This record gives sequence, C-alpha cells and structure tokens, in this order.
Amino acid sequence: RTLEVALGDRSYPIVVGSGLYADLPRWLQLRHITPAHSLLVVTDSSVAPHYGKRVLTPLESAGYRVQMSVVPAGEASKSLDQLSRLVEEAIRFGMDRDSAVLALGGGVVGDLAGFLAAVYMRGIRFVQLPTTLLAHDSSVGGKTGVNHPLGKNMIGAFHQPELVLFDVDTLATLPERELASGFAEVIKHALIADADFAMWLEQHHEALLRRDPTLLTEAIVRGCAIKAQVVARDERESGLRAILNYGHTIGHALEAATGYRRWTHGEAVAIGMVGEAILGELVGTARDVSGFTRRLLALYGLPVTLDEPLSDEELLTLMRRDKKARQGEYVFVLPKGIGTVEVKKGVEERVIREALRRLK
Ligand code: NAD
Ligand code: ZN
Repeated sequence: RTLEVALGDRSYPIVVGSGLYADLPRWLQLRHITPAHSLLVVTDSSVAPHYGKRVLTPLESAGYRVQMSVVPAGEASKSLDQLSRLVEEAIRFGMDRDSAVLALGGGVVGDLAGFLAAVYMRGIRFVQLPTTLLAHDSSVGGKTGVNHPLGKNMIGAFHQPELVLFDVDTLATLPERELASGFAEVIKHALIADADFAMWLEQHHEALLRRDPTLLTEAIVRGCAIKAQVVARDERESGLRAILNYGHTIGHALEAATGYRRWTHGEAVAIGMVGEAILGELVGTARDVSGFTRRLLALYGLPVTLDEPLSDEELLTLMRRDKKARQGEYVFVLPKGIGTVEVKKGVEERVIREALRRLK
C-alpha cells in the first residue's frame, strides 16, 4: 500500500507492506537514488542481526556501494557523540552530497540518522526503513534530532525523507511491550481524527496483537495518513500540529517525573490520553469519551490508570513547562468526541487536579 505525503512543493511516498526489502533498489531508483550514489545504512545492535542482511543483499546485488553503521540499541544513542561517530564513518566511507542515508530501525535510529542526513554537508537525502510500530509516527513528519544531557530532543532539524518504506514483516521480532507502546500512538491518531478507525481498532485488536501482516499494514497506513495530513497542513508546527500532542501533556509529565524509567513513551501517553479525556469531560469539551478511551487502550494491554505515587505539584509544574504552554498557562489538547479534538488554553488548575484524582 502506498500513500503520498505532500509538503509544500515536494512530496514523498510512504510504502507499507510485506516483503518490501527485496524491492528496495527499485524504490530508491524511483526517487533517483541510483547505484551511482553511495549509501550509509544506519541501524542499531538489536535490529542489525535480524534485518541488516535483508537490506544490504538486494542493494549490493543491484550494484550499490553500501556500508552499514551500527549504534547500540536504546535511547542513549540519540546523542551528539553517536552523531559525531557517524559523521566520521560517513567521511571515511567517502560520502558526498549525492550520497544518501538509510535509517533502519525504530524512532531512535530514525531521529539520529535523519539528523545525520540533515547536517552532513549541510544536508543529504535520507530514507526511513521503520522497524517499530511507534516509528509509523516518528518516520513521518520530518522531525529529526538528538538528545542533550539536559533535555530530550534539544538539538534537531526539520528534514523530510525521500521515502518511507515500512516492511511490516520486521514487526514479528518486536518485543511485546514495544508493540503495545506503538499501538498507543496508532490509537492516538484514531482518537484525534478518525472515529471509524478507532472502532476498527477495537474490533480487530486480537488479530493486530497477533501481528497479522494485512491488518498491521492497514493500521499503519491509516495511522500514517492521519499524521501526514496534519503535518502537511502545518509542517513547522505553528498550530494545528499541536493536536498530535493529545495525551502528551500529561504523558510527558509522567515520563519526566519518573526519570523515563517507569513507563515507555507509549504507555505514558496511554495514561495521558485517559487523563485528558477525563479532563475534557470536566472542562465540558466532550461527554462520555473517557470510558471508550480506557477500554480501547486496555484491549492493547496498555496502562490506563495512574498507579504511581507522584505528587500533583510536581506534575503540574512539569505540565506548565510543556512546549504548548505560554506564560505559565496550562494548554491541553482535549477531545470533543471520539475522533475529534481541540486545543484548549487556560485550563484551570483545580480541574486538572480533579482529573488527576480520577485517573488514579
Ligand atoms: P527504539 O528505536 O529505541 O526501538 C525500541 C527497541 O526495539 C530498541 O531496543 C530497538 O533496538 C528494538 N527494535 C527495533 N526494531 C526492532 C525489531 N523489528 N525487532 C526487534 N527489536 C527491535 O524506540 P522507538 O519506540 O521506535 O522510538 C522512540 C524514539 O522515537 C524516541 O527517541 C522518540 O523521541 C522518537 N520519536 C520521534 C518522533 C518524531 O517525530 N521524530 C515522534 C515520536 C517519537
Ligand atoms: Zn508520542
């Protein structure tokens, strides 16, 4: 299945399906990345043993000059140190402005390799080969970057890929918890923009959790389509793109308050979406949304209550620091119903406290 993302005066395809790597040379050539151009495949130490060869072999057979660089698996690799090491490898490999970077992995590899491509010789082309469900989100939209010891995603650039090629067969080896976390973002896309998709996710949760390739393809295409539509209308995050942050104001606060150790990002966002659904009901933007939100997320094995003893004061402080917040005012993305949300400024603190109480 192919989906076209249009951004300003250019566009790129998102291809989702089974057994796609065999066709990688053909897809690259459609994007004018030919065997005349060197390729650096960036991947991580968990992905390389499973899929490194599956990507390299067809490229080498098609006559590409290609090298693979492996970073340690995990968030810690989204660092300036790893970036610098990759730049060195790229220089030594003789990469020039016509060369391209292929990011084979989850969001960590995608963000790191995308940023490498954004800054290497002031920008070269790159291709996303996502291998986690969460990466259906991170590979679309052009945000790339690394972390700084003082803050996540503090150093980065907007750089759009030439192509996103999502081979769903790779999801077969993804750890269960990572799969569920990816579904949190798929469900988020449904809840902000597509009620039918939310019902479909409720109906098909068993087959999706069994990793049926046809259904996974469908879920990823629909999730990517929503992300792509929102991004296309607001590439540089001036307004509309904020709706993609549904569940994230509370979710980010939960992650930060627990030092990013208690929950995965998707799990924190799942609790955050329930909290923000409750908040929507309290503020009056929506009626009867939190029950369905909770049920749907729970079907995917995601946490839906706040069962950690965190102080409301700390969470409120973190939420005031949210990127959407201005002048210490609380800003939330709140549901208006299933499949539709709005950005609400100036939400009262006592209402947020009540939502947190009901989330426990
Ligand atoms: P990840 O890339 O660390 O992958 C999760 C784990 O699964 C890793 O240990 C990885 O080695 C392993 N793995 C990956 N694919 C596998 C496979 N097919 N089989 C077996 N193991 C596999 O994490 P993630 O959840 O994909 O991404 C998280 C990152 O994405 C964060 O850094 C976050 O900031 C970023 N992100 C970026 C955007 C964006 O718009 N750029 C959006 C959301 C998240
Ligand atoms: Zn997220």
